[in-house]
Amino acid sequence: SVSGSWAYLLVVIATGLMTDYPRRFPHLFGMVAGAMVVVIAARLLLFKALKTGFAHRPEVWRFRLRAAILATPLVWGFFQAATTHLYQREWTCALVVILTSGMAAGATTAFSPDLALHRNFQLLLWTPTIVVNALGLGSGYALAGLACLFTGYLLWQGREHSRQYWRSVKTRQRLARQTAELESHQRIKDEFLAVITHDLRNSLQSVLLFTSTLKHRTQDPVVREMGDHMRETGTYMKELLDDLHDLARLGMKALKMKAEEVNLVAIVERVLAEQNEPAGEGRIHLRLSSPERELSLMADEVRLRQILANLISNAIKYNRPGGWVEVRTRVEGEQVVVEVEDSGIGIQPEDHDRVFELFSRVDGATVEGSGLGLAITRQLVELHEGSLELESQPDKGSVFRVRLPRSGPAALAC
Ligand code: ADP
Repeated sequence: SVSGSWAYLLVVIATGLMTDYPRRFPHLFGMVAGAMVVVIAARLLLFKALKTGFAHRPEVWRFRLRAAILATPLVWGFFQAATTHLYQREWTCALVVILTSGMAAGATTAFSPDLALHRNFQLLLWTPTIVVNALGLGSGYALAGLACLFTGYLLWQGREHSRQYWRSVKTRQRLARQTAELESHQRIKDEFLAVITHDLRNSLQSVLLFTSTLKHRTQDPVVREMGDHMRETGTYMKELLDDLHDLARLGMKALKMKAEEVNLVAIVERVLAEQNEPAGEGRIHLRLSSPERELSLMADEVRLRQILANLISNAIKYNRPGGWVEVRTRVEGEQVVVEVEDSGIGIQPEDHDRVFELFSRVDGATVEGSGLGLAITRQLVELHEGSLELESQPDKGSVFRVRLPRSGPAALAC
């Protein structure tokens, strides 16, 4: 509507320059041009006062804006009717009628939200011309008929636009409501999951403690063996609860991260040392290839260890007896890159995206797992504003590549 106001001004100027109106009917043209300038100025001033005026007294502002908008067809409708009367079938008359049609057509989309405003606009613009020409005082009955048809079409089109507009508004509102509801349900679910996993983890910790005490207090081989099984299952359950707890906190955006200067090479060495035992069971050779002894970056140490532990333990789990796992670190521009390569079973190309999804496990995976590790790892890498890439060939092995900004996540910068 603001651009429409400027267009009206151009229309007034064009009529003044392109026709002999100002010369032949200076009073009438002066009156119309003056009235249009006042109306346009009023519209623009009202828009300028949108923030203050609308916020203070929205109803008054709305009433004034409607009045300013409807004043345009009032002035122009009179002008058009007078022109058809004064100029009959001359070129000036045709030009004014064409300009009026343009205004009318433009208004159908501009006023889609307000059907009453649109209707009143069209009726005020065209009724005088229809009446004058129907009474035989204008350019002819044909113009009255055409104006009637055109007005009818515009009224129908305006109604359709308005319907579509309100339908889309309702759809948007419904979607916004549903999104809010979903977010609230998701939050409740995450909170519930966070609390329950936290409590279960603590109880399980006590059970594991009692199990090891029991094992050390008894000489009975059957009880000792049962103790070992209980400990193994309990440890797996605790890992699962740890993952679910992290997942819930990630969903709630409640995972606290702090960026500090850490030595990546030292962290990799530590994680590799922790994974020595499971690697030994599968006779898997672990090696580190790093050009430097020290590679510093800004990151959350606990979460970085978790990222590496997830990737390295997967590389061991999904390997073959006697295989190898190599961890490589390097600097590339502003990024630090860690690659975890294995000589394992690999992943089919169609599963490359799927393995990062929650609870997704590749069909036929024989090793125990929950399908949570990679999803959490990717979220942790993204919290560091880094990326996680995968290259893999079935039966040959996989490379998981983590890229992290050396200066740490910008969101955590002090
Ligand atoms: P989990 O290992 O608990 O099943 P993850 O999210 O860590 O869950 O891994 C998802 C799936 O991706 C695994 O079930 C496995 O099929 C596949 N996968 C992950 N890492 C590797 C790897 N290094 N080599 C082959 N397959 C892997």
